[in-house]
Amino acid sequence: MTVAGTAHSGERKPLPAGLVAALEQRFGDRFQRGQAVLGQHGSSESHFAPVLPDAVVFAHSTEDVVALVNLCSAADIPIVPFGAGTSIEGNALAVNGGISLDMSQMDRVIAVNAEDFDCVVQPGVRREELNVHLRDQGLFFPIDPGANATIGGMASTRASGTNAVRYGTMKDAVLSLEIVTPQGKVIRTARRARKSAAGYDLTRLYVGSEGTLGIITEVTLRLHPVPDTISAAVCSFDTLGGAVDTVVQSIQCAVPLARVEILDKKQMVAVNRWSKLDYPEAPTLFFEFHGSAANVAEQVETVKALAEANGGSAFSWSNLPEERTKLWRARHEAYYAAVNMRAGAIGWATDVCVPISRLAECIAQTHIDLDQSSVPATILGHVGDGNFHVIFSIDPDAPDEMAEVEAINARIVERALAMDGTCTGEHGIGIGKQEWLVAELGDAVEQMRMIKRALDPQNLLNPGKIFSL
Ligand SMILES: Cc1cc2nc3c(=O)[nH]c(=O)nc-3n(C[C@H](O)[C@H](O)[C@H](O)COP(=O)(O)OP(=O)(O)OC[C@H]3O[C@@H](n4cnc5c(N)ncnc54)[C@H](O)[C@@H]3O)c2cc1C
Repeated sequence: MTVAGTAHSGERKPLPAGLVAALEQRFGDRFQRGQAVLGQHGSSESHFAPVLPDAVVFAHSTEDVVALVNLCSAADIPIVPFGAGTSIEGNALAVNGGISLDMSQMDRVIAVNAEDFDCVVQPGVRREELNVHLRDQGLFFPIDPGANATIGGMASTRASGTNAVRYGTMKDAVLSLEIVTPQGKVIRTARRARKSAAGYDLTRLYVGSEGTLGIITEVTLRLHPVPDTISAAVCSFDTLGGAVDTVVQSIQCAVPLARVEILDKKQMVAVNRWSKLDYPEAPTLFFEFHGSAANVAEQVETVKALAEANGGSAFSWSNLPEERTKLWRARHEAYYAAVNMRAGAIGWATDVCVPISRLAECIAQTHIDLDQSSVPATILGHVGDGNFHVIFSIDPDAPDEMAEVEAINARIVERALAMDGTCTGEHGIGIGKQEWLVAELGDAVEQMRMIKRALDPQNLLNPGKIFSL
């Protein structure tokens, strides 16, 4: 967790004594104000300086959330929903103070409807635990951010991960939500039907709204059957460009890759060191292929031929489940591997996404920027979607490093926007990307403000996030 970094804080007022008394009475020891618990809810995984909430409330039910909303609304004290706190853009920091509403103890799988390939969960269920729960039924939930995030947090940031190239993002995975509105009403955004043309698509409005419009208290998720055959492989390349071209050409040949992740040479050095592995220290692709045995063999043949033509090595296979788990654990820990290249460093991760036809050019130009940077940085990402990250390993006591990274980040985002891409493929806006949201969408941001003002006129929920009002 970060202990120093860029400071952000807005207006805050102390909790009124009447509210404190009411919260103590309603929540007992689930209302907490100790420094340790405030610290856990006031720091982030990225470069933002800690901002402590005034108190933390642990919810156990939708009724708890309604009660909290009613009490905080009457006292005009903000509520910041909190899942696992793994978001990267300061999304869950209480920049205006108030109550951090910890949803992680609402962690029940309510129903698995195997015949419909869906399930209903409370928002505090973590993605890994959900997959353990589903394993015996031959089903899985594919969205896998590197951290073991909560389903509510993932829905709220419109998260994705290594499987998104085949299975989509939280935008595709969420069928319906139960929401507590800022007025304390409980609504459901859709039924369990696979499709619906019933009015405005509120599900997709709340997905990605970063806790600013409503609090998610239940989520209905689309599931997938575990494929007959799963094969994972690692392939290193002479050049980063060769690796990117292999991905782009595979996608253009309509190979239904389940996962394809790029790691540049420095990232591979960091992964080897962090995860005690001995992969070649060269630009590398991690692949996974899903399907019937014949279908997987066909995919592999096409991708191998493309890799060979682009300077790829022989594929190194991981077909046993434990080998695959080891491979993907190393990929999921790549962020920590990159940050910890320097002792005492903190991470700054940026996340852009461009149309796949511009990916090679975007990554090549970014690589030139990083070669000239005095701050160590790596490139990795979900390249099958055109999405990649740059992870800087910053000395928290060196303000000039923070300034240098800010300038490089600006160049990376401006380049992605110039290619008709986005300033964030998956981490969201939080406090870190607000100016870039305006650069990307212009007047559309004013429409977003109008939605926020209409649904949350008191600005009760997660104020200061996504845009200034
Ligand atoms: C090592 C590492 C790797 C990562 N890799 C990826 C990746 O591959 N893809 C990706 O998308 N992200 C990635 N992330 C970012 C992070 O895991 C995601 O943003 C995740 O969705 C956050 O979930 P969380 O439960 O931690 O939510 P939090 O960080 O607690 O909250 C995130 C946002 O959701 C809101 N929120 C939380 N719960 C609720 C709720 N019940 N109702 C309403 N709002 C709520 C919060 O207010 C906040 O705005 C990574 C992070 C780390 C540290």
